[in-house]
Amino acid sequence: MTRMDACTTWVRPFIVFVLLAVPLWAQPPAKPARPEALAEPLPADWCRDLPRPGYKELDRLSVAGTWFEVYRIRPGVFAIYEPHQYEEVISYLIVGSQRALLFDTGLGIGDMHEVVSQLTRLPITVLNSHTHFDHIGDNWQFQEILGVDTLYTHRNTAGATDAQLRDVVVPERFCGQPPPGFKPGSYAIPPFKIARFVKDGDVIDLGDRQLEVLLTPGHTPDALCLLDRKHKLLFTGDTFYAGPIFLYVPETDVAAYRRSVERLAQLVPQLDLLLPSHNFPAEKPEMLTRLADAFRQVQSGKAKFKMSEGRREYTFDGFSLLLSP
Ligand SMILES: [Zn+2]
Repeated sequence: MTRMDACTTWVRPFIVFVLLAVPLWAQPPAKPARPEALAEPLPADWCRDLPRPGYKELDRLSVAGTWFEVYRIRPGVFAIYEPHQYEEVISYLIVGSQRALLFDTGLGIGDMHEVVSQLTRLPITVLNSHTHFDHIGDNWQFQEILGVDTLYTHRNTAGATDAQLRDVVVPERFCGQPPPGFKPGSYAIPPFKIARFVKDGDVIDLGDRQLEVLLTPGHTPDALCLLDRKHKLLFTGDTFYAGPIFLYVPETDVAAYRRSVERLAQLVPQLDLLLPSHNFPAEKPEMLTRLADAFRQVQSGKAKFKMSEGRREYTFDGFSLLLSP
């Protein structure tokens, strides 16, 4: 047996195995999907245009702390707004006679538990409009968290690391000051546990107030809206808000989004108010009719768009739709 023969019998296959396998071992572990805002370029004038004029018409409550602004939208319905960071996230506390529901926990830059305990002493259940980072920031502070049983949701219960979130807390994304003591370098979203899963049509009973869960996948697989039929309120999450609606990230399903929007548009005659999760907490129900129309125009190819940072941006009255090219 020559040395060459030995090589052909086992050494060469071994070398081939090593060459194939090493690149696999060397690959970094799969990262969670990049949250929507991290890739989003900043318009130069975003901070100059704040505060949004509509806020002075709302009933503002005084609370301790400088990060959140709290507005009473209806009796027992509080919008908890984060005006000092680019996302302008809005979480909602909905208070019944027996319990309260916290619809999202914000960015996790300010202390959500502290602000909510100034508004109610009732036991609190958390439900997220979806599990993008800007809505789950302080989930970890709460015991009872409801969620949707999707793979996407399960993955996001791991939270996010400071490295993944670095871009969220760069100085250009603040308008005004972060809360005293906040350290951008250690900003991270701790993991949390879901206590119970919700399904479409589930009713969350707060005592004298019932909230119906409408699963509205599209923006993310776990996007949902909350319907308070008696008070004619619809909490729309990121499925609708007045502003650029992001529909280009990998976790967005455009066909599912269209079905969800059509479904919500059917509810318009039964609604008094939309309460979205960004920018402004009180919008007219008719916006949903407009959104459904707009989306039909986009999908039929009739709507005009301009390219913006490699995405199609379709601008309509009061909102725009951002889609991948
Ligand atoms: Zn969002």
